[in-house]
Parts: sequence; C-alpha cells; structure tokens
Amino acid sequence: MATNPSAQPDVFDPMMGQLEVIEPGLAMFHGFANVAFAYGRGEMIAIDTSSRQMGELAVAAIRKVTDEPVTLIVYTHGHADHAFGTAAFHQDAALRGYPRARIWAHEEVARRFRRYARTEGWQAHINRLQFGIATPPGLFSAAGHVEPDLTYRGMQVLELVGEAIELQHAMGETDDATWVWMPLRRVAMVGDLIMSSLPNTGNPNKVQRYTLEWAEALERIAARRPRYLLPGHGPAYRSEERCEEVLRQTARALRFIHDEVVRRLNDGQWPVEIVEDDIQLPPELASKPFLAPIYGCTAFIVRDVIRRYAGWWSGQPSQLFPVSRRDHARDLLAVCRREVLLDRARSLKNSGELKRALAMAELVIDAEPGDEEVVRLNAEIVQAIALSEPSFIARNLFTGAGQKLLQGLTKPNAP
Ligand SMILES: [Zn+2]
Repeated sequence: MATNPSAQPDVFDPMMGQLEVIEPGLAMFHGFANVAFAYGRGEMIAIDTSSRQMGELAVAAIRKVTDEPVTLIVYTHGHADHAFGTAAFHQDAALRGYPRARIWAHEEVARRFRRYARTEGWQAHINRLQFGIATPPGLFSAAGHVEPDLTYRGMQVLELVGEAIELQHAMGETDDATWVWMPLRRVAMVGDLIMSSLPNTGNPNKVQRYTLEWAEALERIAARRPRYLLPGHGPAYRSEERCEEVLRQTARALRFIHDEVVRRLNDGQWPVEIVEDDIQLPPELASKPFLAPIYGCTAFIVRDVIRRYAGWWSGQPSQLFPVSRRDHARDLLAVCRREVLLDRARSLKNSGELKRALAMAELVIDAEPGDEEVVRLNAEIVQAIALSEPSFIARNLFTGAGQKLLQGLTKPNAP
C-alpha cells in the first residue's frame, strides 16, 4: 500500500481486504473498490465484484460468513476495479455446484466494455499513470471480464427470495451507473456515486463525467431516507442522519461547483478565465472529511463542467491554431537567455512557487528537449509538486511525468 506523504486522509481504506458485517444478512467487503452483499433464506446478491485481483479475496471473505449461493450480481458501473472480479464468483459457484449468478447491469455497461476493447492500449497507458503502478499486461483490457447477462434502461425491480431490489440508473462518474435500493432493509448500495472523498468528475485523461446529474442522483437516494449507505470506496455509513448528511452535502458540493462554472459561462467568461478563477468550495463543505480532495480535486471538476457545456477552445486567440511549443519556446529564448529563465525557475522553486517554476522550466525544455540540466530541473519540480499534492490522481500524474523525464535521459539517442 502506498503511503500518503501529504498527511491528508488516505485514499486507501484502512479496512482494505476485510469484510464488515453491517447487520445480519448484510455485509460489505472493503477492497480498493468495495463489494456489498445481501443474503438470507438461501440466496445472495453481490453488488459489484471488485477488481480482477480482489474478486477472490471478496469471495473468500463472504464465505466465512455464509454458504448461500450468489444468485444475482449487479455491476454498479463498468469500471475495472468494480466489475472485473466476476470470474472468482463464477469459480466459487462451480466448486460448490451452484448455478452461475445472473449478472445485471445498465445497458451502457456493455457499450463501455466495447470502448475499452477498442482503446485497450490507451486504457492501459492512462490507468498506469492514474494509479501509479506498473500495470500487469491485460489488467485494464476488456479481455477476461464477464459481460452482463441482462441489462435494463431507466429502472428495474428484481427479487431476492421475495424481497424487492430496485436497480436505478444514474449518471455521475459514468453514464452507466446503477444504484441499488432494498426498500425493506432501507439500504442503498451506490457504487461510485459515493466514494468517501470529493467526487471524481473531471478525471484528466478520461471521458466526460456528469457533475449535475451526479448531484441529482444523490438527492434522489437521500429522498429514500436510507439507514445504511454502502459506497463503492471507503467506509459504510450507518444511521439515517449520517447517510442524509453524506448524500446531501456531497450533492451540495457538486451543485456549488457546477453552478459557479455555469454562471461564469453565462457571463461570457472564457474557459481559460474560469480555470484561472480557481473556484473553491465554501469552508463548511471543504472541511467535510468525506469531501476531501484526496482522489480527484475541485480544479478537475471545474474542467469537466466546462467540457460538458463548451467546446475545446480555451478562448485564447493564440490557442485556436497554436504554434508548436518548440517554436514558441525558441522565440522566447531568442530574446531572453536560457540561464535567466532557469535562474527564475530555480528561485520560484526555492520559494515554493512550484507551479510557476514548472511553467518557466517547461518553456526551456520545450526549446531544448535534450538539455540534461533542464530535464533534471523539470523532473525535480514535478517531483516536488507530487510530494505536496493531496489528490491521488494528480500526485500520480506528476510522479509519472517526473519518471518519464528521467527515463528519457537514460535512453540512447534514436538513430
Ligand atoms: Zn471506483
């Protein structure tokens, strides 16, 4: 498990690998992504199957508590950390002589799996950077995943030994999200609609996400007044008051950022100006531990809302048909000596102005990509930013960028 250098709450659940029994017949396995189980009277439903590596651990954990067959599996969405552990569930059924569980998901899950297959190399590349790991071959590929047997649109009611289970479609982190509601037990099993940190819309390398619809979904869940809220990541929430707080305040945070961006767009501000406004949550929301920006962060959400309503142009005239970064940097170096820029980058770095230091040092590297001194300075700056960055995704992207710069130095020159 990675240590967290920023002394903020850690994105890794301290209960990772353990099963938490919430009440008789209801349990949650804490993985990197969680699996929720409801069981009793000879049947069991699993909400998600965790990742390819953690599916087996989830099955082993629930088998210490119940022998009942898993008759239903629901994918809350098609992300690999939630839906790719299914093989272990099917193996368990085969070993015990049980029929295979029927897998339900929203109809968009199948489309997502096809997109992953079409862009397998890109998915492997961006997930390697996002999670900061040397990805085993095929981990993020579509190969080896198990397709849903049955799909729905809108909403679907299933049964667990006569007990109703509602599957409700939502858009949030993904367009294929399902939250599961069991009215008798008043438990909401919500996948990544709650992830125990600031919602991760605006992931820098991934497709469009849905900030406003996410807030609306949380409000719909809160209106059901759940007693238990079992999220896709992080701890289970118990008690009506706690569930209400987490759902309503997370929705409020998303609406706040969404509305701040939309107001600026309507006022005629360009995307580049909105980003530079550095929108922040009000202190009473920013201080909530379940909204800590330890996975995604506010600045990423701002960008996703802009992308939802606007095109790709930042609004800067030079960026409509941009010159190459190398030409731009060389023009600057033609009037300003390299040493002057590097001294400025170093002094900004030493005074803790890391982002300004990086912007300056990057200009020099754009002009002279093979300049070892400049490459090392850039790598030092991005590593320093990584160490100070609370967001897991941002930290890993900076760390990966630093490693890539230094690797470039050790590679022989291309023929
Ligand atoms: Zn997730």
